Amino acid sequence: MSTSTLPLMEHFYTIQGEGFHTGRAAYFVRLAGCDVGCVWCDVKESWDANAHPQININNILEYVKDAKAEMAVITGGEPLLHHLDELTSLLQQNNIETNIETSGSSPLSGNWNWICVSPKKFKEPLLEVIEKANELKIVVFNKSDFEWAEKYAALVNENCILYLQPEWDKAEQVLPLIIDYVKQNPQWKISLQTHKYLQIP
Ligand code: SF4
Repeated sequence: MSTSTLPLMEHFYTIQGEGFHTGRAAYFVRLAGCDVGCVWCDVKESWDANAHPQININNILEYVKDAKAEMAVITGGEPLLHHLDELTSLLQQNNIETNIETSGSSPLSGNWNWICVSPKKFKEPLLEVIEKANELKIVVFNKSDFEWAEKYAALVNENCILYLQPEWDKAEQVLPLIIDYVKQNPQWKISLQTHKYLQIP
């Protein structure tokens, strides 16, 4: 399959605010299209791929190169709804690291330097994706999410880094629970949405 264009909702150069690469400059490429349907989704305008322009992958490369970014984060929407081999190969050929942020609910494509899987309850991740995750990021809304997090931690590879991240609007209530949980279960780390504190995209 050849994919020379992809539906692009937005793209911008910023600082990765969460997870393993927190604090690193990153070019975000937000692809449109999502079939997961999280009720609390804060980028619902990304769901309909047809509402966004199809952009040639060479143009996407140029955006990243023009910014002089060393790392691209491909996100969505759900980026794995698209075949990403061509885009990621092109980026890597130009010495740009390729990271993906995915729910893992569609088959894996692309050549990745880093795979972050953040499972969603509305469409569960596929085993073939979760097994390849470098980073498992569980967004915690309430107490019951710790059990849910462990279900996926049991499926990842032994080098995968485990993160619990408070849902932004629930942070005040769940952060104390997360702190306690990580102290009791130190294989987990805390991820915070630092870009929101920094007030950057
Ligand atoms: Fe929104 Fe992401 Fe859930 Fe899709 S997977 S509905 S983009 S939060």
